[in-house]
Amino acid sequence: MKPAPFAYAKARSVAHAIELLANDDARLLAGGQSLIATLNMRLSEPELLVDINAIGGLDRIVLKNAHVEIGALVRHAQAERSAEIARAAPLIALALPHIGHPAIRNRGTVGGSLAFADPAAELPACVVALDGEIEMVRPQGQLTVKADDFFKGLFETALTPRDVLTAIRVPAAGTDARVGFAEFARRHGDYMVGLAACARADGKRLNNLRLVYFGVGATPVRARRAEPALADGDVEAAVKALADDLEPADDVQASGAVKTHLAGVLLRRVAQQLARAPS
Ligand SMILES: Cc1cc2nc3c(=O)[nH]c(=O)nc-3n(C[C@H](O)[C@H](O)[C@H](O)COP(=O)(O)OP(=O)(O)OC[C@H]3O[C@@H](n4cnc5c(N)ncnc54)[C@H](O)[C@@H]3O)c2cc1C
Repeated sequence: MKPAPFAYAKARSVAHAIELLANDDARLLAGGQSLIATLNMRLSEPELLVDINAIGGLDRIVLKNAHVEIGALVRHAQAERSAEIARAAPLIALALPHIGHPAIRNRGTVGGSLAFADPAAELPACVVALDGEIEMVRPQGQLTVKADDFFKGLFETALTPRDVLTAIRVPAAGTDARVGFAEFARRHGDYMVGLAACARADGKRLNNLRLVYFGVGATPVRARRAEPALADGDVEAAVKALADDLEPADDVQASGAVKTHLAGVLLRRVAQQLARAPS
């Protein structure tokens, strides 16, 4: 199928993009890896595409004030090669190679992944696990939203159709940072169930542990009952608690029961990663 006809405009700046988004039924175009597919399948028929790829300054990765800021237009492949991300955001570095395939990572953007909010996507879960923040600009001005409050429902975020996501910010990892990432997919690049985890080590204890699953609900899902059990070092109690934390629905990939079982398998793998100091 071909997309329905649409007009195209190239934004010169974030302010210009906001101006163009005042048109009814306009949609931002970043890497196009999700949007173009929805246009081609006519799941979406916007009248105007606002291309943000030429906006300067949104493709930077910056370490500042103990945080890593990743611009919305940073491509997945660029982030994968970044020494700053490898050092200061190791959870994101672990997750990136799992996103699709090299061709998708060459075009897809970090901002697009967060804005699209696919519940099975890796980066939204990582940003929630890291207790990160999302920077956006809306007609009324700039706004920072905690990742915990950003994901509202299935493909639904705190962004309105008039807003531009400009960056994400996550705390830079210190020497006590412990991270873990694992996912199960039938083929590499597909989606099914995954887990992103982050904590601070205090001897054998894990403080501030956040276990965030993807592919098991409408948004990234924190396993809040499993967290204290794993923080105390009781992996099997944490696996057991997942039955109360997660309620995955049956889908074309697997039944909810299979997904809950896989969530436990992933938790055991991630528990081993969390126990190791970064090399
Ligand atoms: C075959 C295939 C496999 C894939 N596998 C995976 C995978 O395993 N894991 C995964 O996470 N993703 C996967 N993806 C999706 C990929 O990561 C996309 O790049 C990402 O979801 C969207 O980023 P994008 O830059 O391409 O955004 P686009 O497709 O350009 O836009 C997606 C949506 O976000 C909005 N948007 C984009 N940028 C902004 C912004 N800055 N501010 C506000 N709104 C914005 C757009 O208007 C649009 O509604 C896959 C895609 C394909 C085609």
